[in-house]
Amino acid sequence: MRRREGKRRKYLTLVPDGMADYPLDRLGGKTPLMVADTPNMDLLTKKGRCGLAKTVPDGMEPGSDIANFSIMGYDSSYFTGRGAFEAASMGVKLGEGDVAFRCNLVTEEDGILKDYSADHITSEEGRYLIEEVDKKIGRRYGVEFFPGVSYRHLMVIRGCFNEMDMDIECTPPHNIVGERLEENLPRGDLKDLMKNLIIGSKDLLDDNPINVKRRNEGKNPGNMIWPWGWGKKPNIPTYQELYEIEGSVITAVDLIKGIGICAGLDVIEVPGATGYTDTNFSGKAKYALKSLEDKEFVFLHVEATDEMGHEGDLDGKINAIERFDKEVVGSILDGLEDFSLLLLPDHPTPVELRRHTSDPVPFLLYRDKNYSPDDVGEFNEESVKKGYFGTLDATMLVSILFGSRKLR
Ligand SMILES: [Zn+2]
Repeated sequence: MRRREGKRRKYLTLVPDGMADYPLDRLGGKTPLMVADTPNMDLLTKKGRCGLAKTVPDGMEPGSDIANFSIMGYDSSYFTGRGAFEAASMGVKLGEGDVAFRCNLVTEEDGILKDYSADHITSEEGRYLIEEVDKKIGRRYGVEFFPGVSYRHLMVIRGCFNEMDMDIECTPPHNIVGERLEENLPRGDLKDLMKNLIIGSKDLLDDNPINVKRRNEGKNPGNMIWPWGWGKKPNIPTYQELYEIEGSVITAVDLIKGIGICAGLDVIEVPGATGYTDTNFSGKAKYALKSLEDKEFVFLHVEATDEMGHEGDLDGKINAIERFDKEVVGSILDGLEDFSLLLLPDHPTPVELRRHTSDPVPFLLYRDKNYSPDDVGEFNEESVKKGYFGTLDATMLVSILFGSRKLR
């Protein structure tokens, strides 16, 4: 049964990916979030309640997949692997025995994985190279490749799950930048096939005219594929089933779109959303406000903060945090009067480590004008430790945001 129209509220979850960080000597022991000028998040903090959220279950890799999955309210038993959600977002159907991999276009140089993103290759160039791999290598091995956004693509092996439980160990490429490939090739089931695909792609792509041109322009080539993050067909209850709520998801990242689709959310495409620092921050807020005119919930994700962490770009990260605060949070505050909001990064991406960590992340929850706040006045990794909620499992946050228990 639908809620009565008169009681319809507006709910938002805002996720600045990888925003949390560690105290840095060069910031006098402060974190980028503490140093950044974030009046809008601080205002919501003053009116809301804070805490630390555990987004990565014990024993799991701190990927944006499981972390955003937790924030959307699903526990890890529903999690069937990143590739499966990316497939959903790209409209690629998976059968029962199929396995989907996230497949990066990366830069290889002298046996070293030089760049996990091939210098954020354009989607047009990426599509051309992945289609080459599909035609010339995929068909040889019965493996399918699907082009995605920039360096983020998809690889599907059909019908390999039949009876056995698969054990494939793949390393995310952003964790092995600067390391030798040889030691980081996939292990376990399918390892020979995977190696043939990876090495074969290098032989195929290295002197492709697109890569020759990229090198001439001083850009890293997309001269190798790197499959990782495999997953099989997911089956998760939707927001309609769990909370009787209709909602949307706004993100440039296929993975998050895919989790949203599996959760029953509509994907809203925002012009100029890139998954990088040049993204259309304010456009995301504008489309979120628009979607809240006829739906109750929006999940808005910004990737730029995470990318700056991976690049170890401290000033870039502070700038991305400030733009998120001003152009996303500020626009939401300007555009809405009565709403409930949950805000948290999915995981830390500390600029000094340039990779994700599993530490609990700061979150803030604002319910409405009458919500009695705790006494945290600024939103950051340290201040929220004094918050009302203490440390919570992130899967609980959606229920708290909606003020309702799960229906199943
Ligand atoms: Zn990341």
